[in-house]
Formats: sequence, structure tokens, C-alpha cells
Amino acid sequence: MVNMLKIGLLGTFLFLWACTQASPVELEEVPFSEPSYHPREEAVLPQEIIVPEPVPNPVPNPVQFCGQADHAGASILSDEEALSYLALVNRCQRASNSFEPRDLSPVNVESLRVRGGTHHLMRSTAARAVEDMFQEAALAGHRIIASSGYRSYELQTLFFYHWVSRYGRAEAMRFSAVPGHSEHQLGLALDLSTVEFAGGLYGAFITTPEGLWVRDNAHRFGFIVSYPEGREAETGFIYEPWHIRYVGVEAATIIYENNWILEEYLWYQEG
Ligand SMILES: [Zn+2]
Repeated sequence: MVNMLKIGLLGTFLFLWACTQASPVELEEVPFSEPSYHPREEAVLPQEIIVPEPVPNPVPNPVQFCGQADHAGASILSDEEALSYLALVNRCQRASNSFEPRDLSPVNVESLRVRGGTHHLMRSTAARAVEDMFQEAALAGHRIIASSGYRSYELQTLFFYHWVSRYGRAEAMRFSAVPGHSEHQLGLALDLSTVEFAGGLYGAFITTPEGLWVRDNAHRFGFIVSYPEGREAETGFIYEPWHIRYVGVEAATIIYENNWILEEYLWYQEG
């Protein structure tokens, strides 16, 4: 079966949406310094993208590193499995195209890209944890900015192919998940920024007081930095100091203390 996604319509919507956003701020060149995963209005997008329905893999894959694996052979989590706070999506495991968490809730924290600051959605437990985290960061003198929370399969498709059109597929996959493979579709991930970066996503986030605070404190609220430095071979992603993902306080603390990625924690859990 083939899904025909009318990207043209989505593009029009995005153009109208982008027009309501604040003007971008010029920043110094840093690695992967593109401003966040919000395609610009001049983005060249294919008029129509054909996304084949994946063929389910009847043999469940054991937990494994699959940083460079081929997405085509990925197994598909049931919607029930995808609702676990420990649900693993990587290059060899993914959510279904239609998966959408039932408990999405507005995240009431500051955003420079979305007026009102409550547009971002996450699953409710993760959303409350983000609000607690931002509150404590503020008490410590840090103003963190929310940049991008839940993304539907369709929105991730739009974002991913935007980056493919700019950098080519292989390069885009290093920092943007193939649709279905995104922690943002699970409703558990949030991208973070600062006022200095005008809400954009930059590797240099880790050089800011906010980025350092997030690195050292996010686990206390149940979050991990999913794609740590020097782990691209296992995760498939460059270091993304801005991308946090909810797993619960216990798992996040163990992962933080051991410098693990989620795959390692799941291995450890399986004994
Ligand atoms: Zn992200």
C-alpha cells in the first residue's frame, strides 16, 4: 500500500505559519548551525512525496545499536509498545505511521517561535516534567527556550524532506530522523534553545550556561540527552545537546550516571 502525502498543502500551511513567526537572528557559523527544524518559506520541497508503507518485520529485533542500519528493515512497535516511556526508536525500530499518543498536552513554557508558548505538545507526564525543569532552571538563573516538541508522522515527513532537499539524504539523516523513527513522534522529546540563539537549534547550545545546566540536571526530571557526544556510530545522530527525551527519573538517572544511551539501559534492564 502506498500513502500519498500532499506536501504541497502542508507547505502552504507552513508558509502561512512561518509568516507569523519572529524574524530570524543572524548567528555566527557553528557546526550544524541551521536554525531549528522549522523549514523556511523559501525551502524547496518536492511537490509530492511517496512514502511506502513499511513491511512489518515478523521477527522482533533484540535491543541493538543500529546507528548506521538501513531503515528499510526496521521493526515496527505496536502502538501499545510505543506508549512506553522507554520505547526505543532508532534506525532499526520505529513507530507506525499512524501512531499518535492519546495524552498529548500543551507544554506551558517559554518559546520564541510559538506565540503564547503553549503550542508545543508532549505526553502529559513529560509536559509536567518539562515545566518543573524550566521552573527550577529559572530559579538557578537560566532561561531555557522550548523549540520543538511533539511532531506527527506527517510533520516529521515535511521536516525530514526539507533537510534532504538541502543536504541530501545521508547527511540529513545525521540530525533529522526518518519519519516514523523520531522520538518527537512518541511525544516524549523536546528540543531546547536559548534567547541568545533565538530559539534555534545549535551544537553550541552546550557552550551556554543553559546547555550545561540541562546536561547536568535533566535526568533529575526524567530526561536524557538522547544523542550524546561521540556516539554517532551507535545512535546514528550527531551530538544533539539540545534534544532531550523523557524516560522517567529512575532510568534517566542510571543513564546519566553511566554515560549511556537508551539502548544500553535497555540491555542492562534485560539482564
Ligand atoms: Zn529533537
